[in-house]
Amino acid sequence: MSTEDPRRRIPRTDRVLADPRVRAAAGGLGDAAVRAAVLAVQQRARAGEIAPEAVVDAVVTSLSTRGASSLTPVLNATGVVVHTNLGRAPLSDAARQAVLDASGYVDVELELATGQRSARGEGAREALLEACPAAEDALVVTNGAAALVLATTALAGTREVVVSRGEFVEIGAGFRLSDLMESTGARLREVGTTNRTHPDDYAAALGPETGCILKVHPSNFRVAGFTSAVPLRELRSLADEHGVPLVVDVGSGLLTPDPALPDEPSLSEALEAGADAVIASGDKLLGGPQAGLLLGRAETVRRLARFPLARAVRADKLTLAALEATLRGGATPVDVALHAEPGRLRERAEALAAAVGAEVVPHDGRVGGGGAPGVPLHGWAVRLPEATARSLRLGRPAVLPRVHDGACLVDLRCVPESRDRDLADAVTAALEGLR
Ligand SMILES: *Cc1c(COP(=O)(O)O)cnc(C)c1O
Repeated sequence: MSTEDPRRRIPRTDRVLADPRVRAAAGGLGDAAVRAAVLAVQQRARAGEIAPEAVVDAVVTSLSTRGASSLTPVLNATGVVVHTNLGRAPLSDAARQAVLDASGYVDVELELATGQRSARGEGAREALLEACPAAEDALVVTNGAAALVLATTALAGTREVVVSRGEFVEIGAGFRLSDLMESTGARLREVGTTNRTHPDDYAAALGPETGCILKVHPSNFRVAGFTSAVPLRELRSLADEHGVPLVVDVGSGLLTPDPALPDEPSLSEALEAGADAVIASGDKLLGGPQAGLLLGRAETVRRLARFPLARAVRADKLTLAALEATLRGGATPVDVALHAEPGRLRERAEALAAAVGAEVVPHDGRVGGGGAPGVPLHGWAVRLPEATARSLRLGRPAVLPRVHDGACLVDLRCVPESRDRDLADAVTAALEGLR
């Protein structure tokens, strides 16, 4: 029996790096990343988790299953369409292609005909105005929160932003819109109560200290029962009487009303009702990239675009490309998932259940992303043992199911139909892992 320490047989880093199979698996990864992968595998061999002879194989596996980014594509089987933890809206094919095309040098601020500098992101701006003719001008910034801070800071400065108490929204992860606005020096003037705000409440607050009136769509919660809010048209009259701008944060980014989501306000409606500037996110119901959209009257949008803070929240070329292509391309994945036909969802769920030997149960999806709370999207799910969930998440492709009531529920609403086969394979593998 040999007394030699097996750890002495672990191949040295330079030998592993020189192995042709390792070099092939490294692909486009940089030296530092490859070296880190080798060190991690050597560490596992030192800890006795794998044999020294298996180090090269393990490095090859580790390298070929990871790209240069650690972000892992996930099949969304939760039924939640705009899933914040999964990066909100998945991009359309047109938008993905546009991102790829814009990723090198691109004429984002250049007129090719003259060789002169042009306005930045003109294509995205034009696409927004075409999609939303009620707007005279548009500006794209990094996200909805940035759009809100830019609008209130540029229009109110250190004066008052008049807003109803029923519209104090916490948007998640502990961030509150009120704190956000106050962070640049604006003061909030709260009017009304949590459930009811009347025109007189606004009228009493408006005066020389008013910077703007703000209306926020309470997108992620619902106040039901004895409630009242002041319609936009009345706020418009109040704003005109006092000569102050009216800003509306609609949140979810519907361009025009959607009958499937009757309580979601749209950018077009808010502009038609007289808002000077309307704010929305690009990656919620619009189905595009993370972005903050500011649409409205030419004079107001120009004022926001010229304000110094606008430069700090400028949208990048990839966002501009994806946004334009989202608007000009066909139906977005968000659109498809939101309007999926329940009968077709059931057929797909039944096919999956039959393939893996499980049962189908009714399951309501949700809009998610803080949109249309309480609106159920009727559909179906395949019910699996709860323990399947972990294997699904760690499988390839990674699948995120919903864990609820001691079961693992696989909802096909947000899975592209072209991936049904991959999903069935993933579920089969996960179930085999349990045996
Ligand atoms: C989501 C949301 C925001 C924040 O937008 P982000 O794009 O997430 O920064 C602001 N206001 C409302 C009403 C929202 O729903």
